[in-house]
Amino acid sequence: MMENCLFCKIINGEIPSSKVYEDEKCYAFKDINPQAPVHILVVPKAHIASVDEIASLNSEYVARIFEVIPEIAKAAGLTNGYRVVSNCGDDACQTVKHLHFHIIGGRQLAGEMA
Ligand code: AMP
Ligand code: ZN
Repeated sequence: MMENCLFCKIINGEIPSSKVYEDEKCYAFKDINPQAPVHILVVPKAHIASVDEIASLNSEYVARIFEVIPEIAKAAGLTNGYRVVSNCGDDACQTVKHLHFHIIGGRQLAGEMA
């Protein structure tokens, strides 16, 4: 866990969150500022700053996240599709420097990605 990291604090319960899923490798919670009817963040329980820091030493966390995303989406009622997004770095407007995957859905999403 990294000091002064918002999502590390959410994972260890220092900051409250609306949990939707948890296991030994990842934690999922509702985004505080939802962009769609369903907007969930899935984060690794290890401090990885962004997609740019994924490597063989920590990719087990990322693999686990992608194993559980379909379960989380199904539990959230996303039967007609959804989008999985990770903003990486300044050009992508990453605001929290702890790797996270947005699961967004519950309505028809825009066709454009950027
Ligand atoms: P990004 O801009 O990709 O780094 O995404 C960061 C996301 O974290 C944004 O969608 C925020 O709304 C969300 N967020 C920030 N603080 C919290 C919080 N305390 N609880 C839940 N979501 C948060
Ligand atoms: Zn962190």
